[in-house]
Amino acid sequence: MVIGQQAESFGPAAVIRSIKEKLPQSEWLASGEGAARNKVDMPDHIKEILAQSHAPKRVTENQERTDRIRGRFEQAAADALELRGMLVGEEDSKAWWRTPRDTPKGGRPVTKDDPLTVLVTGGGLAGLVTASACHALGMKVAIFEQASSYAPYGGPIQIQSNALRALQRISPTIYEELVAAGTVTADRVSGLKIGYRKGNKLAGLYDRGDWLVRFDTLGPALEAGLPATVVVDRPVIQQILVKHGFPEGTVRIKSRVESFEELGDGRGVRATLSDGTHAYADVLVGADGIWSQVRKCLHDLADGAGGFAASGAAGGAIDDAEARKLAKDTVKIAAQADRRFSGFTCYAALSSHRASNIEDVSYQILLGDKKYFVSTDGGGERQQWFALIREPAGGVDPEPTADDPHPKLRRLREEFSDTTGDADGNVWDPFALELINAASEEDIKRRDLYDGAPLLATLSPQRLLSPWAKGSVALCGDAAHPMMPNLGQGGCQSTEDGYRLGQELSKVQHTSEVSAALGSYSRVRVIRTAIIQGFAQLGSDLLVDFDLMMTIPILGPFFLTMTQLSMPWILRFLYTPEF
Ligand SMILES: Cc1cc2nc3c(=O)[nH]c(=O)nc-3n(C[C@H](O)[C@H](O)[C@H](O)COP(=O)(O)OP(=O)(O)OC[C@H]3O[C@@H](n4cnc5c(N)ncnc54)[C@H](O)[C@@H]3O)c2cc1C
Repeated sequence: MVIGQQAESFGPAAVIRSIKEKLPQSEWLASGEGAARNKVDMPDHIKEILAQSHAPKRVTENQERTDRIRGRFEQAAADALELRGMLVGEEDSKAWWRTPRDTPKGGRPVTKDDPLTVLVTGGGLAGLVTASACHALGMKVAIFEQASSYAPYGGPIQIQSNALRALQRISPTIYEELVAAGTVTADRVSGLKIGYRKGNKLAGLYDRGDWLVRFDTLGPALEAGLPATVVVDRPVIQQILVKHGFPEGTVRIKSRVESFEELGDGRGVRATLSDGTHAYADVLVGADGIWSQVRKCLHDLADGAGGFAASGAAGGAIDDAEARKLAKDTVKIAAQADRRFSGFTCYAALSSHRASNIEDVSYQILLGDKKYFVSTDGGGERQQWFALIREPAGGVDPEPTADDPHPKLRRLREEFSDTTGDADGNVWDPFALELINAASEEDIKRRDLYDGAPLLATLSPQRLLSPWAKGSVALCGDAAHPMMPNLGQGGCQSTEDGYRLGQELSKVQHTSEVSAALGSYSRVRVIRTAIIQGFAQLGSDLLVDFDLMMTIPILGPFFLTMTQLSMPWILRFLYTPEF
């Protein structure tokens, strides 16, 4: 059972880590020059896949595209700030969800003229996609979002092939707009590099900055007949969904759902907002992120389990002062909410910078000791990067002073030093600093990363049978399955959830069938998302300290080979049109 804050995860990863630490290291395995083939960004087998006639053709970076992508981002961010499309003012008093329905005991038939009504808690990716899916299938939807403005953490996100297919099925217009606004990342190499150390003679020698694993995301997508992965700015995604997903006025901001009450017998649910406003509908969806209040009520978790703390992903507006407070608050919330502290704090930024490897590499991870550095093309000559450093939860950076005006930058320059080395004397590949130095102190946001247990953290029979749903209420997105960002699948799985929720609810012909439909949604989704959650968690735990592994005889090469072999299979599992 996984309860609350843990600095270490349980399970196979913890076992493997303890083996790594106990087994003898052999420096000899790491001595010598790295092999030339591990320094090549674009190997022949990936070149061949990218050269296929139906593969997207990479157009080299150019000013026109940079201006277009950055301009689109700025416009979307401004629109989001102006709350365009959000319900404010007079219309609000006439909203359909304000009036209690006079539904008889036992429920009512669902018809085209009297469709199913759905309240969505949370206007993040999961909430917006769910509302779009339900609206496209004729349901009436409303979204309650607690935030007063939209301030994303973590820059653009990869909308991978599987999520693109879900969006395409929900709305061809949304799909086309997203692809047009996005930057294809499937047209280049992705992979894992060793960040600073040498190893391993038995597996072919590696030096800092050398590739351990290279893969392409295009081949598995083409095999499954899916579109190529793109990266899109979060505010752009939000604006496209708000504009094309449902009627104007569907999102109500400054609206925090505090509790709900089942009306029973097919009569739906009553949600209560923090100002006492009531909302009525046939269905309530909790798409309210990792610290979900709906989840807290649904699973009867302890007081304090639902919180305002920013989730692993979007969350509310964040400045440094707020971030410091949230880091502490989150430790307390996590302890009540059955969430797992991943063991990592994450510094993230989007650097305006044309990366030195941009034409060949779209996504790479530099692996190190107690930390790793992830970067991805953010489009428009911007690199999005995350520095994940293992340390206890709740840590904060000092406030800037005259002597130390850039504490976050200073720390990161020390952690990833490519000259004198970090505190352990490890000298890093210069690519990490190339990106860190292109960011300003203000660009860098810090947050501890939490996720959830891939298997249910309970033995309750009701939750085992229907893990994310009960009666008229269901969870989706991070509220249901928060995961580490390694696989870039948290948002993609939220998108699949939204699609599946819409599909299951569209089969409902009588409101008495809602509970069964939500239970079915939950059962269809839970196994797949648990596996992906597990992969992401295990990946994070195994990848860190990979250098250590590389200097253990036999075990190092074994793990490296397993990682190399498993990547295409993991991608094949992720990229499926069945969700
Ligand atoms: C560093 C990083 C990189 C990532 N990269 C990727 C990637 O490349 N691809 C990918 O697919 N995923 C990625 N993810 C994961 C992805 O961001 C999340 O899985 C996804 O955003 C989850 O969306 P959500 O809507 O479930 O939750 P959130 O984005 O957390 O949204 C929840 C919303 O609900 C609102 N809310 C909360 N409580 C209430 C309440 N009681 N009432 C009303 N509103 C409420 C919040 O204000 C928020 O707007 C990444 C995550 C991180 C941390």
